[in-house]
Amino acid sequence: MDALWARVSERLCKQIGAASFNSWLKPLRVAQLHEDRVILLASTGFLRDWIRGNYQSVLLREFQKDMPHLRSVVIEQSLQADVPKPRAGRAPEVPGVLKADPAPKSVDMAPGMLDDNLTFDNFVVGKANELAYAAARRVAEADGVAFNPLYLYSGVGLGKTHLMQAIAQHIRQTRPERKVMYLSAEKFMYQFIRAVRYKDTMAFKEQFRSVDVLMIDDLQFFSDKDSTQEEFFHTFNELVDRKHQVVISADRSPSDLDGMEERIRSRLGWGLVADIHPTDFELRVGILEQKAAMSPAANVPDDVIRFLAHRITSNVRELEGALKRVIAHHELMGRAVTLELAQEVLTDLLRSNARKVTIDEIQKKVAEHYSIKMTEMSSSRRARAVARPRQVAMYLSKKLTTRSFPEIGRKFGNRDHTTVLHGVRRIEELMHDDASLAEDVRLLEAALSN
Ligand code: ADP
Ligand code: MG
Repeated sequence: MDALWARVSERLCKQIGAASFNSWLKPLRVAQLHEDRVILLASTGFLRDWIRGNYQSVLLREFQKDMPHLRSVVIEQSLQADVPKPRAGRAPEVPGVLKADPAPKSVDMAPGMLDDNLTFDNFVVGKANELAYAAARRVAEADGVAFNPLYLYSGVGLGKTHLMQAIAQHIRQTRPERKVMYLSAEKFMYQFIRAVRYKDTMAFKEQFRSVDVLMIDDLQFFSDKDSTQEEFFHTFNELVDRKHQVVISADRSPSDLDGMEERIRSRLGWGLVADIHPTDFELRVGILEQKAAMSPAANVPDDVIRFLAHRITSNVRELEGALKRVIAHHELMGRAVTLELAQEVLTDLLRSNARKVTIDEIQKKVAEHYSIKMTEMSSSRRARAVARPRQVAMYLSKKLTTRSFPEIGRKFGNRDHTTVLHGVRRIEELMHDDASLAEDVRLLEAALSN
């Protein structure tokens, strides 16, 4: 058992990097080995959930190399006390301090701090996030302070934490002497409250004020006007005065931070405020392609990527989650990744992302798919390149909505109902002979319907 775990560990470490491995997987203990099942124990519920959420498939893959009949790796929380704690022996006062020295210890960071995957390289840039990305890069590469503070905000799951961690990683690699601290506002509050309780606020202040770059994630958690906020504000001011970089993220703009005092709100907006917008189709495709490339064995086909990008529009986290689920299904059940599999595995997600289909929406999706302007749906141009997509949209409007031919005609630049009828028939005919058109229609239909 030990020898097997040692072998698997070695491969895991190569796969996910020493830092992640040491933080997350090294503390695991193998509890049971069966031909088809491995049970691993994590020391805390948090570790268990994190590993389930992030490393389940890589664990399965690496175990399978030694155990060809293995079908699942189960991660449970240990109920015994003898499982090594992830940070045994070292209890940093403030989680999140990145020690600058390149000694091995610095790699063995507290869990939950830095995720090796959250780098600039792994961040897909599109219109929605280009400003935030450029600003984050500037901060990471700047000699002195770039904008102070850099304030990133967006709805949930759109990449704020990713960018902050990317800044931290970049600085750690290029200027290891700089002290970077990344922590959530919640952690900051917790640390402060603890320091007050143990009458240790001096040490607390010192720790924060000695950093070169301070990053506080999810600032909206400082909801009430209390002493934590005050302490944060002092720390913040002092760092800014001494020209140390501060990076903040929140789910809303500085002026919308209701629980914050006015002077703090206004001060937060003095640097650069960059918001990340919801993703568009193109960016979603880019993100999925990049994530799919990390699991080459799953061979995720193009139509599945486009399908997910059409249908999971809420945020990147859900998008990523959807793809992971499809890939996990492939890995666990050995099923090929297809549109059918995706639809089957994601029923619940798709339902929550689904709305009633309208003709407008159909036109928009079809136009997007064929890269033509939405206005071509009602224009009088008859060139094949626009006429065919228009007919596809008519066909789908007939199929997916309850609208009549005349009603559909009106939506396509007041065309006569016979034109719509002709268009629908034409597509039906073509689908028999033209496999690629049939595939387009099938994909669009899947993307538009429940
Ligand atoms: P937030 O902090 O804004 O709630 P996160 O940074 O945690 O969002 O992002 C949620 C997930 O989506 C993360 O796994 C992150 O890596 C991923 N993600 C978000 N935006 C991008 C992007 N542009 N490219 C690649 N991955 C992204
Ligand atoms: Mg976040």
